Amino acid sequence: MLKDVVMEVQNTNGNTNRIKLLIFQLMKQLGYVLMFFLFLLVLTFLLRHSVPAIGNVYYSFQCQVLNNRLTRFLNISIAKPNEWCPKCEFNFTDDVSQHKKAYYLEGIQPQKNNQRLNRLYTKGVLKKLESNNYFYIRDLNYSYPYLLPEAQKFIFNLCKMYSDSCANNHLDYVPITITSITRTIESVERLKMNNRNAISESAHLRGKTFDISYTAFGCNTKQFKMLSDILVQCRRENQCFVKYETNGCLHITVN
Ligand SMILES: [Zn+2]
Repeated sequence: MLKDVVMEVQNTNGNTNRIKLLIFQLMKQLGYVLMFFLFLLVLTFLLRHSVPAIGNVYYSFQCQVLNNRLTRFLNISIAKPNEWCPKCEFNFTDDVSQHKKAYYLEGIQPQKNNQRLNRLYTKGVLKKLESNNYFYIRDLNYSYPYLLPEAQKFIFNLCKMYSDSCANNHLDYVPITITSITRTIESVERLKMNNRNAISESAHLRGKTFDISYTAFGCNTKQFKMLSDILVQCRRENQCFVKYETNGCLHITVN
């Protein structure tokens, strides 16, 4: 296309100055693109070193975006689900019936809507989770940030162990991203309209289940390995049941 444009310019008035101008403008545009990427790199570096909690989430987000963009444009994937989450399909295999064991007697009854969950929260039955330096709660479209106290405690312990592990290995702490928490009958119905795999008897209705995103770790593969090893250990000690989901998350029910 550039060749055609150049030919046209030459044919019409043979003025090489116009070609030079065209090349200059193209170089200018290229310069802006390079400066933009340089700006992103510097911003990431500064954020990761000054505010690791925000910087590492931002870094992971960039990796995710890069992976998605390359996948779409080049029709290749630089990271498949099992590469984001090595060995997860072997380590985290607890099926629906295993998770049910953990919530069948001790979970809350499925609640109709958010108002009902709120009521359980004001009565002190459920605890509310809020993003902090250790974990980040992504926008919840189909669930609400409430869990039973033992599940909340499990997340705090998990973050503590993972944080200690990062410190011992001289790695920056990358906050865990939680993508789904407690659902209601109403939100499960909404979810079923968008996702055929969603089931009415979702473990997320019972106040003991949440999802952690493994893709959110992006390029921070060492940190994810730390977390994954800790989850394997918790699983062995029967503290929880974990299912590897190919949609990008680990589905965890606290025992
Ligand atoms: Zn889940």
